[in-house]
Amino acid sequence: MAEEGARGRGPAGERAAVADGPCCTIVWTMRGLEADRPLSASVGDYLKAIWELSGSGDISTTDISRRLSVAPGSVTRALVRLREKGLIEHERYRGASLTELGQAEALRLVRRHRLIETFLLEHLGYPWQDVHDEAERLEHAVSDSFTERLAEHLGHPERDPHGAPIPAVDGSLPTEDAFPLSRAEGGRRVRVLRVAHEDAPALAYLGERNLVPGSLLTVEEARPLDGAVTVRGEDGLSHSLEQPLAGAIFVQSLP
Ligand SMILES: [Zn+2]
Repeated sequence: MAEEGARGRGPAGERAAVADGPCCTIVWTMRGLEADRPLSASVGDYLKAIWELSGSGDISTTDISRRLSVAPGSVTRALVRLREKGLIEHERYRGASLTELGQAEALRLVRRHRLIETFLLEHLGYPWQDVHDEAERLEHAVSDSFTERLAEHLGHPERDPHGAPIPAVDGSLPTEDAFPLSRAEGGRRVRVLRVAHEDAPALAYLGERNLVPGSLLTVEEARPLDGAVTVRGEDGLSHSLEQPLAGAIFVQSLP
């Protein structure tokens, strides 16, 4: 994008608004906000972080600061701007939550991110522990049109390489009845649905042991006290997992 256009309602912004159709309002908002310096993380990063953290209610500045590795002062300033743009609601002592507009934008970016991850794994031979960081970089560079061509090319996958659901174009997500492996009972057979972990060494560890989405496991021992489990894979090998790893592996019960 040209520097002039990035700074406000310049020519590049107008072209983007026309090209992106129904998303033009959001594109305007994003471009306008990205141009306001200093922000050490992008608008999209903030929206995705709030969306990802929002399972636990309103999100504090500290939560976001930790998640994005950004100083709390920068987060506070960014939240003020996100609220001015109508993307979040934010009250000082209650924390932040996404507005409908913010939610739609977050889901649009999550869709893009997860499709890119799938492409990197399936077509470029990336190991699954490396796709997240690469997708974080690429998602800022591609358009909605590229994203939809990618979805078409990949055959409209429903889940990314970590098993996380890919939001549909309308932002909808499937419901799922998965639970953390740390809460599985001994003797049960389970299937791994997704791994909610982004740490590359942890993912590499799980990948080497085939503790990945789709794998069938038998829970040999479960310790409810500390959530540690021992599982046996289809290859007959047993693996002991402790928290937080065991809590990041979401499984479904098999009959
Ligand atoms: Zn990711």
